[in-house]
Amino acid sequence: MRRDPLPLSTPLVAIVGRPNVGKSTLFNRLCGGHDAIVEDQPGVTRDRRYGASDFDGVDFRVVDTGGLDYQAASASTLARDVLRQAMRAVEEAAVILFVVDGRDGLMPQDREVAERLRKIGKPVLYVANKIDGPRQEPAAAELYELGIDPVFAISAAHGRGMADLLDAVVAAVRGEAPDAGDAEAEEGQNDGTPDSDDKEEKDDTGPRVIRIALVGRPNAGKSSLINRLVGEERMIVDSVPGTTRDPVDTLIEHRGQQYLLIDTAGIRRRAKVHEPMEKIAVAMAEKAVNRADVAILVIDAAEGIGEQDARIAGLVQESGRALIIAFNKRDLIDADVERKLREDKERQLQFVPWALLTTCSAQTGRGVAKLLEDAQRCYASYNRRVSTGELNRFFDGIVERHPPPLFHGHPIRLYYITQAQVRPPSFMISVNYPQGMHFSYERYLQNQIRETFAFVGTPIRIMAREHKKRIGPKRRPET
Ligand code: GDP
Ligand code: GDP
Repeated sequence: MRRDPLPLSTPLVAIVGRPNVGKSTLFNRLCGGHDAIVEDQPGVTRDRRYGASDFDGVDFRVVDTGGLDYQAASASTLARDVLRQAMRAVEEAAVILFVVDGRDGLMPQDREVAERLRKIGKPVLYVANKIDGPRQEPAAAELYELGIDPVFAISAAHGRGMADLLDAVVAAVRGEAPDAGDAEAEEGQNDGTPDSDDKEEKDDTGPRVIRIALVGRPNAGKSSLINRLVGEERMIVDSVPGTTRDPVDTLIEHRGQQYLLIDTAGIRRRAKVHEPMEKIAVAMAEKAVNRADVAILVIDAAEGIGEQDARIAGLVQESGRALIIAFNKRDLIDADVERKLREDKERQLQFVPWALLTTCSAQTGRGVAKLLEDAQRCYASYNRRVSTGELNRFFDGIVERHPPPLFHGHPIRLYYITQAQVRPPSFMISVNYPQGMHFSYERYLQNQIRETFAFVGTPIRIMAREHKKRIGPKRRPET
């Protein structure tokens, strides 16, 4: 995080809450332990701790209101002081982080403060701290009683849940409403439909953290790859194991781009003995993939492609996420074996012909940093929007060269094409008989779009809609 002072005009994020809930721990987590230099800045109250931070390309200042005004001994004076302290910080702040101890649950003072905060008309993010692992998660649920959604369950001490909180802080600083989408995915409630709508708006607003899930069979080398990446790149939020040994996400930076590595390595520790390891691996992979933008399917090159790999690739395909297939342990195989692996991939994973193929070795480090660059490429494709004008110029040529086959003796007319969505890119085709669009013709169109617009590593979806002669657009929509 940053050390240089930021101008006072930089948005301020205030951390408020009772003593001992972990405000200063959170402050340190956000600001990397560096207080901003405040002595020379006029108008800054000296009894608060100010710091500077940045995430996803957005600078913000942080104020820790902890340790103030606590002459109080009795519960009632304490409540008043917390409130006063919170309100003072709130006057200056653009965004408020209201922190409670997620293990204690709600205290009466918390309710009172939350009530007041709700009325002030500034964005408030509700944070349940000290949720060090999944076992503590139910404790945070009490916050929902306040009618608050989402609640950010974090462990300031260990970094758990920080990436989602930071996403929300940055969104609030930018003036976007906090979105519950990621929180939902976190709960594993994602139904597999790509969450394109709520995030689409962010696409054009500069760099974003790229979320990567490393998935694959046990022993493929996922943890080794993560360790290698963490060892070589700048780590922003570390995954230092705490008292519990549950997996945490890791945030790293490579060449100015931030990546969140979603860890599935902890599954071994959580596995129930009677469940087959491989089955758990698939279930965990699914959960991780639903939280990611890009999935990296790690395959042990010496072992070859197995049935489980095909299952995991299949679930990535269904989720609509970008996919990289990484043959790890390259150091154990020679060029002939590699050639054979690539052939096997064509056959055994033929349903994801678009996946980006790469080789690496967590042991030697070869190809490991490139995984991040590949992920960035795939991510760019995953988010790419092609203008309607460009699409239709391409479409005219295609339809002329290779018209769709007849449907019950009727010619199929393709009127126009638009891109309805990103993440993944999804195209809507207006056609006289949508039911007559043959699967193989759809596949052909997908391939043509992929080649023409250089989409890499992302699935592409095509939807056919019936062309309505009367109410449909007479002319193509403007680009
Ligand atoms: P503040 O008074 O709100 O600023 O709270 P502190 O940051 O000083 O933290 C109070 C206590 O809670 C300290 O002993 C911290 O080590 C502990 N603490 C803070 N965050 C966490 C956390 O995420 N998990 C656990 N287990 N303890 C935490
Ligand atoms: P995970 O279960 O997918 O997280 O796999 P691990 O990272 O625990 O790796 C399983 C085993 O493979 C460990 O003994 C690693 O040392 C080894 N391993 C991982 N990557 C490589 C590699 O690139 N080359 C070689 N030779 N061994 C590797």
